[in-house]
Amino acid sequence: MKVIDTIAEFRNTSAGAAKPLGLVPTMGFLHQGHMSLVQRARAENATVAVSIFVNPTQFSPNEDFSAYPRNMGADLAMLREAGVDLVFAPRAEEVYPSGFETQVDVGNIASRLEGEHRPGHFKGVATVVCKLLTIVRPDRCYFGQKDAQQCLVIQRLNTDLNLGAEIVVCPTVREPDGLALSSRNVNLSPDERNASLVLYRALSKAKAMRDSGVADAEEIKLAMRNLIEGEPLAQIGYVSVADPFTLLELSNIDGQALASMAVHIGKTRLIDNMVI
Ligand code: AMP
Repeated sequence: MKVIDTIAEFRNTSAGAAKPLGLVPTMGFLHQGHMSLVQRARAENATVAVSIFVNPTQFSPNEDFSAYPRNMGADLAMLREAGVDLVFAPRAEEVYPSGFETQVDVGNIASRLEGEHRPGHFKGVATVVCKLLTIVRPDRCYFGQKDAQQCLVIQRLNTDLNLGAEIVVCPTVREPDGLALSSRNVNLSPDERNASLVLYRALSKAKAMRDSGVADAEEIKLAMRNLIEGEPLAQIGYVSVADPFTLLELSNIDGQALASMAVHIGKTRLIDNMVI
């Protein structure tokens, strides 16, 4: 496994690598959610590249950039074990040298939900993913459904800017009790870890209501909110039942919908979603 920290070397090595090439972008502190993407990439490509970069531009000033968990040693060991070929772990100055000005704005799909609650977040995401896809030119690029809106934003970006990758969306990996794996879960105290189950319980409630024929999105959202508000350590950022492609809020569900939410558990902001 080759670990690279400059753009020039990562570009050259990717260009000379056996094809197809699969890329898995991450912010590190890897867990089995990330590794499910790596395993899928390993099964489908001759070369697997993983990037580890805590992207400063997708955090706003009041967010947890400096507190975001990091463990490069453990990450590299997991990736070596999984048979990864290339790791790109640049420093922030390599990705954003002085004078850097360009930002990629993906428009409507990036303006809703997470975009509304984390202004500038998707500009940071789209800009760094655009750079990665341009540097690596992968045949396939892997993302997790855990970040459902991010997947839609990247698909739009890839199509609109003709970046030429196949965007592969992989299912959310959960703990046995339903909590979606996230690097941020490490920040939860035992009480908060317990409280964090409200996200999955609210999504399961939404799915059960939908499965039993409820089509009124407001009714489903109200049930989700009530359930979350019953947990004293949880504070709602948003609760949404939206069209799974446009992310516009629905009033009446005709087919599938994306139930999603952001919930603060203490200082930790968690997101999760389920197609219902
Ligand atoms: P992150 O390091 O949080 O930026 O995540 C890197 C990639 O892993 C993103 O495409 C995420 O959607 C994906 N990912 C994170 N957590 C999970 C999970 N629990 N299940 C599946 N994919 C995940």
